[in-house]
Amino acid sequence: MIKLSNVIKLYRLKSGNVKAVDSVNLQIEKGEIFGIIGYSGAGKSTLIRLLNGLEKPTSGSVNVAGRTIERINGRELRKARQEISMIFQHFNLLWSRTVRENIAFPLEIAGVKKNERLKRVDELIKLVGLEGREDAYPSQLSGGQKQRVGIARALANNPKVLLCDEATSALDPQTTDSILELLVDINKRLGLTIVLITHEMHVIRKICHRVAVMENGQIVEHGDVLNVFKNPEQQITKRFVQQVTEPLGTNETVEHLLEQYPSGKVLKLAFVGEAAEQPLITNIIRKFQVNVNILQGKISQTQGGSYGTLFIHIDGDENELVKVLQFIENERVEVEVIAHA
Ligand code: ADP
Repeated sequence: MIKLSNVIKLYRLKSGNVKAVDSVNLQIEKGEIFGIIGYSGAGKSTLIRLLNGLEKPTSGSVNVAGRTIERINGRELRKARQEISMIFQHFNLLWSRTVRENIAFPLEIAGVKKNERLKRVDELIKLVGLEGREDAYPSQLSGGQKQRVGIARALANNPKVLLCDEATSALDPQTTDSILELLVDINKRLGLTIVLITHEMHVIRKICHRVAVMENGQIVEHGDVLNVFKNPEQQITKRFVQQVTEPLGTNETVEHLLEQYPSGKVLKLAFVGEAAEQPLITNIIRKFQVNVNILQGKISQTQGGSYGTLFIHIDGDENELVKVLQFIENERVEVEVIAHA
């Protein structure tokens, strides 16, 4: 279904060239759920943009569903992009349209007649479990429901490949699980090939058949998920496996974390209170524009409140971020600088 041969993608910048994707060879079979994992800047998004024709390779060849992406343009490229559809971290819904209208949108663009469109939208709403919410607007939906709309819309034109770009990174753990289960269900029912990119190993472990680990634009290791878990070969893969197999916060973990970064520091943020929801907190941290990377950690919800720890890497002054975090209502946040690069 997908074949990349010696793919290089070079961005030419004034400050020098960036090899975002470097000599990638990869084959993904029909019906597979394939995961690509890597830290921020590894080249995952660029790889996804090469798969759906938003970018063309500097050299090498990208073949998806029988089409050589770098050779097609215009109508053929538009057709290819109907067959290779995508869901996003922040859902990318049309806010002024209802659930039904959002899902119908790609069908309208494809020129599907109204009667057929209505029928198809009803099927999709059932498939993703949104019955009863057809006339709601995105602002009236939970994060998980928004992603269900995103999935239904992506499936509208019967794609052959579904690309998932950090599709659960903005969701809490429970909702993440339900969306991942939906993807497995769709994969089984429709035989759809799914490629997902993530920086979270638990996502890979939960649903992927095979995984490729990316670092500096290259695929440094790939194989069956179970094998990679049992025998990770590269240092970076071992770190990803640790995300799901070992408790956080040991000195060793922190040292590993800092090895990735030439400068800055690692902070440990401990949250205790009523309001700490992982998506809320990670959104606050991500909005903060001083080069913050959320490395690891988890905030858990319990009956009586919530608690958890996040490790972040920050390049720059952390004081402003700390101030913002102190303003989260009913939440105590303790910040500790645990290592300097
Ligand atoms: P990831 O998705 O793994 O975070 P990306 O594919 O976004 O990684 O980025 C890989 C590298 O390519 C980074 O160094 C990034 O800065 C660079 N890059 C990505 N897109 C562009 C672009 N449009 N122009 C210039 N550099 C880019």
